[in-house]
Amino acid sequence: MIYLIGNWKMAPEKNTQAVDLVKKTAVIAKQYKKTLVTVICPPTPFLSLVSKNTKVPLLVGAQGVAASEAAAQTGLVSASMLKENGAQYCIVGHSEMRARGESNDMIKQQVDRLLEKKLIPILCIGEKSRDAQGWYLSEVKDQLDTAFADVSALQIKKLIIAYEPVWAIGAGAERAATPIECREMTVFIRKFLNDKYGEKIAKAVPIIYGGSADEFNARSFVEEGGTQGFLVGRVSLDAKRLAALAKSISQEKK
Ligand code: PEP
Repeated sequence: MIYLIGNWKMAPEKNTQAVDLVKKTAVIAKQYKKTLVTVICPPTPFLSLVSKNTKVPLLVGAQGVAASEAAAQTGLVSASMLKENGAQYCIVGHSEMRARGESNDMIKQQVDRLLEKKLIPILCIGEKSRDAQGWYLSEVKDQLDTAFADVSALQIKKLIIAYEPVWAIGAGAERAATPIECREMTVFIRKFLNDKYGEKIAKAVPIIYGGSADEFNARSFVEEGGTQGFLVGRVSLDAKRLAALAKSISQEKK
């Protein structure tokens, strides 16, 4: 199965638009349910509304979680609350949250809280920029080392890793990664998992790609980039483009 995970970020503005989008996305999820696992991650205020208007095969995730369950944390939401409101997945470590000050240590605690509550973390990792010598690999290694400190082999099977090079994300992106760049990092992450948890686990953890993925380039990431799915930002807000993306990655290999 290929993951298609939509990160709605801070959109849309209105409840009615959120309901409209979830209904359109549900049609896509149903159409491609044999090949895709489709998940949408709306902003927290829409979580309950979206969950009520969704049914399997379209699944729901959240965009962030507090690092602890302590109640005195103004503005944050706990893993329990996310679960209570229909989330099964949750994005953590997104570069836009790291840019607002979230450290590798905080992200590790968020992963722990989600696993405790049996929510599936979508752990985003990725380098800010690339250099010819490959130093960017150590930036990603630090993110992996911290996130997986003390995470057992049993727990890690319940997690998705999203490789999202920061320079490829969002409206200000330089460009999408190439499938070759994606493959290099997928192999690097897989090797990390293999060294730490062994081959069986390393093979079981889905590694997906995010960063300017669209209906035109997505298939090449599946065919040549070694990816097992996508975390999609902008395209997830446009049902027509999302449907085209879903179609492109669902086609059988020639
Ligand atoms: C993202 O923010 O996770 C993302 C992948 O965004 P976009 O698809 O818009 O580049």
